[in-house]
Amino acid sequence: MQVCEIINVGTELLLGEILNTNAQFLCRELAAMGISVQRVNTVGDNPQRLREDFMLALGRSDIVILTGGLGPTQDDLTKEVVAEALGLLLQEDAKQMQCIEDFFRVRCQPCVQSNRKQAMVPQGCTVLYNENGTAPGIYIETLQAPPHAGELARDCATEGATKIVVLLPGPPRELQHMFANMLAPMLQQCSDGVIVSHHLRTMGIGEGRMAELCDSFLSSTNPTVAPYAKEGEAYLRISAAAATQAQAEDMCDCTIKKLQHVLGNYAYSVDKPLEQVVLELLHAQHKTLAIAESCTGGSICKRLTDLPGASQVFGWGFITYANEAKQNLLNVSCETISRFGAVSAECAQEMALGALVRSGASLALAVTGMASPADDTDKPAGLIFLHATDGSQHKSLKLETGRSDRAYNRSVATKHALDLVRQLMI
Ligand code: ATP
Repeated sequence: MQVCEIINVGTELLLGEILNTNAQFLCRELAAMGISVQRVNTVGDNPQRLREDFMLALGRSDIVILTGGLGPTQDDLTKEVVAEALGLLLQEDAKQMQCIEDFFRVRCQPCVQSNRKQAMVPQGCTVLYNENGTAPGIYIETLQAPPHAGELARDCATEGATKIVVLLPGPPRELQHMFANMLAPMLQQCSDGVIVSHHLRTMGIGEGRMAELCDSFLSSTNPTVAPYAKEGEAYLRISAAAATQAQAEDMCDCTIKKLQHVLGNYAYSVDKPLEQVVLELLHAQHKTLAIAESCTGGSICKRLTDLPGASQVFGWGFITYANEAKQNLLNVSCETISRFGAVSAECAQEMALGALVRSGASLALAVTGMASPADDTDKPAGLIFLHATDGSQHKSLKLETGRSDRAYNRSVATKHALDLVRQLMI
């Protein structure tokens, strides 16, 4: 398998002014093509450090992709540094010069000398013409570690191996278009397979326990199985490398089935979001759902109605923030609120039953809790009660997140609420 390294160039990345979305895009696309990205490095607009990092990358990887620093200004030096390191002269590319002149003529802007710099490309390279901007991409096949390229690269060099060096423009729109239309077909030729990844999603188990249960799978090398935590959820990423997509899918599938067996009902889907699983269960069982929300303020309803087809199974949502709303709309008793408080298991249950009766739905879900600390109660932030019922069966849950983070508490409550409905239906 080809080993690739990415170098993202730009001081703005190191200052935290912009998010490195180019790295994410390239990693995802290259993985899907069966090219293994083993390092991503970010370096500022500093020629010396860029040269050092480039030579290191060239020494240890088959493919080095650099992004950014191809513009017309003084600090755009990627092309110059790479050409110098590889011992290649820069020469004007007539077609690129024409593209640049056309670009400015169409926009009725002058083409200044610094723009002409962008038509200079390393000798012997393949130019990736930029349909969305003035900086061309560059594709170079080189014998690694030419004599003038420095000791560092020679140390790690595989004698005689051909390396690929690619320079892509920084603006994501330009980079993505160039990658998809020009670079991907060229790189695909040097890839000997594909990598397929899927995510087995779980709720209610936690990353540590999930990893413990799946321990024997975690040392597998192909497919690899890697646990990671999401807010309130835990995922396993299963990645297989194979010659064809179908083979890689089969390998993933086989491991996923075994993992599902180990994890039982904790595993709620492969790749699908929780709300989609709930919606599909409601459709399949011809059931309808009503939702009564307090501390989540409508976010459960939003997640469900974000999906097409929600209207056939979801018709009623009650946002009952105030006690009077809980009493008037959901028939929560005055006594329950004064005895147990609005944030209580009793209140959540009455809210769910009230929503069920008012809506005539087959299932109802209710959530009430403390999203953040409040002065008028001694109940802690993160104390949340959930209740789901179809009138005869009941599922309830008490969450104690121990956190004052409002967004976190609401998000976790929303996920557990959806999961409670799922549990009522499986
Ligand atoms: P230009 O001709 O626009 O100067 P360039 O190839 O020189 O292109 P940069 O100057 O490095 O690219 O970056 C231009 C803009 O592209 C940045 O200001 C930023 O908005 C975006 N950009 C650059 N690198 C990245 C990155 N790694 N991830 C996301 N956006 C990026």
